[in-house]
Amino acid sequence: MREKESKKMPKLIPKNKMITMMCSKCQKEQDKIGFFDSGGASMWDGHFYCRGCFNKVFNQLSEKKKGEFGFYEKTKTSKS
Ligand SMILES: [Zn+2]
Repeated sequence: MREKESKKMPKLIPKNKMITMMCSKCQKEQDKIGFFDSGGASMWDGHFYCRGCFNKVFNQLSEKKKGEFGFYEKTKTSKS
């Protein structure tokens, strides 16, 4: 006998996969994605991208904006 008690089964999400590792640009599942947020400077803000797409999106930013990203420090005086 099977009761129809399940309304909506919540999707089981593995702890290490809180989000779908899907690049918002190339629409492919990736091992590593990064959240892009330039504070409104890019139309690509607020989404996750794979390394390749992240770089493309990032490179569209102005030099000034790029400088606001921590990892962009390497072109300037590196501190660590
Ligand atoms: Zn991508």
